[in-house]
Amino acid sequence: MSNHSNYNPDNGLASMPQKYIGLFYNACSEPCDMLQGPCACGAWHHQEEWPDEIQEEIFGNVSVKESVIKRKPIIK
Ligand SMILES: [Zn+2]
Repeated sequence: MSNHSNYNPDNGLASMPQKYIGLFYNACSEPCDMLQGPCACGAWHHQEEWPDEIQEEIFGNVSVKESVIKRKPIIK
């Protein structure tokens, strides 16, 4: 069973796995629902913004690109 179904390499879009929705917020009250592509928060996200473990899980690798932002989950 693969978790990679959240990522579609054909169009480059990756959705946030359900279990992580509510852990990541950007500049608005809508929780992030995309890892790569147009997000509910209004931003367009890129793989390298996310924690390494999530990149590994969803994309199958960790991006070598530098990111100005490294998103962190909310500690509840
Ligand atoms: Zn977002």
